[in-house]
Amino acid sequence: MRTVIRASRLVLPGKTGAAQAVVEGDRILGVLDHFDPAPGDRVIDADGMWLCPGFVDIHVHGGGGYSANSGSKGDVLEMALAHARMGTTSILPTTLAAPIPELVNAIDGIRRAAQAADGPSILGAHLEGPCLNPLQSGAQAPGSLAVPTETDLSPLFDAWPEGIRMMGAAPELEGGMALGDEITKKGITASIAHSNATYYEVQEALKHGYCDVTHLYSSCSGLVRVNSYRIPGLIEAGLNLDELTVQVIADGKHLPLELLSLIYRCKGAEKIELITDGLEFSASELKEGTVYRQKNGVETVYEDGVMKLLSRQAFAGSVATLSRCVQNMVRAGVPVDQAVRMASENPARRIGANRKGRIEAGMDADLVLLDADLQPVWVMARGRVIRDSLGQPLSD
Ligand SMILES: [Zn+2]
Repeated sequence: MRTVIRASRLVLPGKTGAAQAVVEGDRILGVLDHFDPAPGDRVIDADGMWLCPGFVDIHVHGGGGYSANSGSKGDVLEMALAHARMGTTSILPTTLAAPIPELVNAIDGIRRAAQAADGPSILGAHLEGPCLNPLQSGAQAPGSLAVPTETDLSPLFDAWPEGIRMMGAAPELEGGMALGDEITKKGITASIAHSNATYYEVQEALKHGYCDVTHLYSSCSGLVRVNSYRIPGLIEAGLNLDELTVQVIADGKHLPLELLSLIYRCKGAEKIELITDGLEFSASELKEGTVYRQKNGVETVYEDGVMKLLSRQAFAGSVATLSRCVQNMVRAGVPVDQAVRMASENPARRIGANRKGRIEAGMDADLVLLDADLQPVWVMARGRVIRDSLGQPLSD
C-alpha cells in the first residue's frame, strides 16, 4: 500500500508549492504534480496545510519523562516516541555532563535504542560535555565537568565509534583545541559549548575543526570591557563568522523574538539549527511552580512555561517541541518554509544524516503535516503513522 499526501503547501528545498508526496514502505517514492492512486492506496487530503519534512532535533536530553542519560534502551525509545508525536521524527539523544563510566552507560543505552527503533529515528548520540567551562556551566552538574588534558575520553568514543555524531566542548580549556582536531578526525561534528572563549579564541578554534555553536547566547561568553577595550566573545563570533552554524533554542523563553530576529539577520536561513535542548520533562505534563529533580541531581523549577534553576539565575533546558520553535521563528518574522528548514534540513546536514530533512525521492518517509496555526496534526516516521488527528485510521 502506498500513501499519497495531497498538499497545497509542500515544503521542498528552496520552494513551497502544491504537490503530491507519494510514500511506499519506509521511503518517499517521489514528489509529483499529479499521481493516480491505485485501489488500496491511502490518500490524505491536506488542503490548506503545510507538508514538511519530519523535524530533526540534534540537541535533546529527554522527553516524556525519560532521560537520554539513563542507560536504558527503553527510556530512549520512549523519549523518541514522545517527541515524534509532536512532529520530531528524528532525534540525536544528548548526554549531560556526568562521570565517564556513567556516560559510557548512557551511550550504550542510546546505541541499543537506535538499533531497536522502528518509526522514529535515533540518529546517534550527542555528547554535550564533559569538557565544558565551569564559568559557563549553566545547568550542567559542576562536579562532572572535565579538562581535556586531565581526562581520558577514549572510553566514550570506543563505546560507539560510528554513533557519536556531535560533541560539545569549550575550546579554550587546556587541550580543548587538540580535542577539536581529534573528534573532527573521527567524523564527529565539533560544537563550541558552554564556553567562555573570546572572539579570537573562537577564530583559533575554527582551525581545529570546531564549526558550530551550542545554543547561541545560552552559556556563551559575550562582549566584555577590559579597561578601555571591548573584547567580543562567542556570541559575537557565532553571529559574525560564516564558518559557524548556530544551534538556537527557539522556545520563546530562552531568547526573546527580537534576538531570534537578530540571529536570522546575521546567519540567514542556512546556518541556523533549531533545537529544543529539552529535558526529561519535555513533552510531558508539568505543573507551574513545581520543583523537579533532574536525574543528574540538579533541582529545577517549572515557572512561566520554562525550567529554571532554583536560584532563578539561569534556565535549565526547555520543555518546548520543535514545532513550537518553528512557530516562534515565524512570529519573529521568518517565512514558514525557512523556519521549517531550520528544524529539518539544516540539523540533518550538520550531522551528516543524509536520508533526513528533505522531501525527495529516496529519502526516509518522515513527514509532518502542520495546520494553519503550525500545529502538528499528522506525523509519519519511516512510513509509520505516529500521530493522526485528521480522522484517518492508524497504519498499525
Ligand atoms: Zn543541552
